[in-house]
Amino acid sequence: MATTSPPGVGLAKGLAVTIKHLFRYPSTQMYPKQRPDLPPRTRGVIALMDENCTVCMLCARECPDWCIYIDSHKETVPPAKEGGRARTRNVLDRFAIDFSLCMYCGICVEVCPFDALWWSPEFEYAEFQIDDLLHEKERLREWMDTVPPPPMLEEGAVPPAEAADAIAKKEKELEAEAAKQAEVTAPPAEAAAAPAEAKPRTADVKVEGAGEIDQETYDRLIAEGKSERIARSKAKSAWVRKQKEKLAAEQEAATAEERGGDEAAAAKPKAAEVHVEAGEIDQETYDQLIAEGKSERMARAKAKAAYVRKQRAKLAADAEAGAEDGGSEAGGGAPEASTPAEPADADEPKPKPADVHVEGAGEIDQETYDQLIAEGKSERIARSKAKAAWVRKQKQKLIDEGGDA
Ligand code: SF4
Ligand code: SF4
Repeated sequence: MATTSPPGVGLAKGLAVTIKHLFRYPSTQMYPKQRPDLPPRTRGVIALMDENCTVCMLCARECPDWCIYIDSHKETVPPAKEGGRARTRNVLDRFAIDFSLCMYCGICVEVCPFDALWWSPEFEYAEFQIDDLLHEKERLREWMDTVPPPPMLEEGAVPPAEAADAIAKKEKELEAEAAKQAEVTAPPAEAAAAPAEAKPRTADVKVEGAGEIDQETYDRLIAEGKSERIARSKAKSAWVRKQKEKLAAEQEAATAEERGGDEAAAAKPKAAEVHVEAGEIDQETYDQLIAEGKSERMARAKAKAAYVRKQRAKLAADAEAGAEDGGSEAGGGAPEASTPAEPADADEPKPKPADVHVEGAGEIDQETYDQLIAEGKSERIARSKAKAAWVRKQKQKLIDEGGDA
């Protein structure tokens, strides 16, 4: 037989819970002002290292939501040795994940045999348009920058054979590339007297003390609300990058000094080699993106990139103009080592459909709608796909108009 409590006991219990919590510190986090400190392997977004992908299709086949789209074509690779057989290989054309369908189960990351898919802890990629949650190859590649490095091997552990093979292969490639570059850049008159050294590349320069961090980057990221872990990892990369650039510049200056002042003047910096402080943002781009309804974080990131791009183009143009002046004053008429600077607009990539905002998403593409209804699709599905088709067409139209202009 069920026992009944005396009247008022339930109420007293409820009040006791209320009173207990009244004097406790609230555990609510004031996001987005207060950023959550997530574990490093949080399932935020899936990143793609496309150079590792062999188009084996395992991930697409195993995905329970069928939200991975892969397109590829076959290419014939000439035989490695003379008399060998030519091989065919798949070349990745398209890799997209629809995050509006993905349930973050991680099966695709688990099954990929070539470590092409990774979890990134980034989770702030909400969109106003659902079709913008379809991340294409380029966007998935960008997420790789936010993937934390794999944990260090334990002391005494044998490094995997694949890693040693890959390092040896990469070193060989770099050596071959450096030799090729040296052949191209060496002036024929001086080749006999003093063979030109290949210009040191950032990737070739070894930096000691990888435990250091770039304090400026660290402080900026912390001020932006990034977690201590992400800020530290990015600041570490920034420090290594800066050190490499510094060392490469020193080596280059030493080489140029050996070759003489004329050659140093002829070696014009390329836009990608000019270092720009990235703390600033391009206000115009920021305002435009905010007006388009992009999130504050995304607008800031894109505005930062735009600022860096503009500054680099400007610095490269200035440096080139300076080098040209130097060359004409010297009256050398030396052949140009690099291509003339392009206007800043030429560096601007053509906007991707995901970057274009289209007004009036209530519209539908009637042709698609009629076709789907004729194919026997439900009214709801036909309408939603026709909506997506309309937005896609509008975006393409806007991009084409932008390109023509
Ligand atoms: S996490 Fe799961 S649902 Fe999402 S793409 Fe990978 S396999 Fe598909
Ligand atoms: S499983 Fe890995 S290698 Fe295979 S298609 Fe997917 S991402 Fe590419």
